Amino acid sequence: MPTERVTQAPVQVTPSQKEITLVTQERLGHLAQFTDEHLAYHEAGHAVVHHLQGGTIVRLSIERTDPKEGMQPAEQLTATGSADQLKALRDLVALLVAGEVAATIQGAPESVVKAGGRVDREHAIRRAAETGLDETAAHAMIEAEWPHVRDRLEEPANWKLVDSLAQQLVRQKVLDADQIRATLNP
Ligand SMILES: [Zn+2]
Repeated sequence: MPTERVTQAPVQVTPSQKEITLVTQERLGHLAQFTDEHLAYHEAGHAVVHHLQGGTIVRLSIERTDPKEGMQPAEQLTATGSADQLKALRDLVALLVAGEVAATIQGAPESVVKAGGRVDREHAIRRAAETGLDETAAHAMIEAEWPHVRDRLEEPANWKLVDSLAQQLVRQKVLDADQIRATLNP
């Protein structure tokens, strides 16, 4: 998931050209605090957890000038409309904290981990609110999911996937669906 941009929520409106320019300037400033490795491991963490949850990723990008920098899932990321909304929300929260978790395992400084995860946490709190959870409950869910995601990503087979994706991302900056599939389903 992009660090400064919410994925295609159903309610998202198309920003005007002027807004895109402003966001890009702000985004470039935001992204300047991260190395390519920081960005790559953050996005690879999201991607591998989405994959482990049965999802598909159509594109990954750490290209700083790319308006679609981040992870693009094939599926709408939503916690609503599910028979088991709380489980769906937990999965979504796990996916959203995975960027922070991967950056932590990679050894990024805490300030970098937190800066990268700020928007993801805001996103999680918004989605939790849509499911009827207040902010305290949302924070509790984030803190509960965090160690689960860490355990999952620290499994050697899973961390190998994060590593492979992240290293490819650092080399190529953008990965398409076929490249991602080939890496995640070796
Ligand atoms: Zn993220």
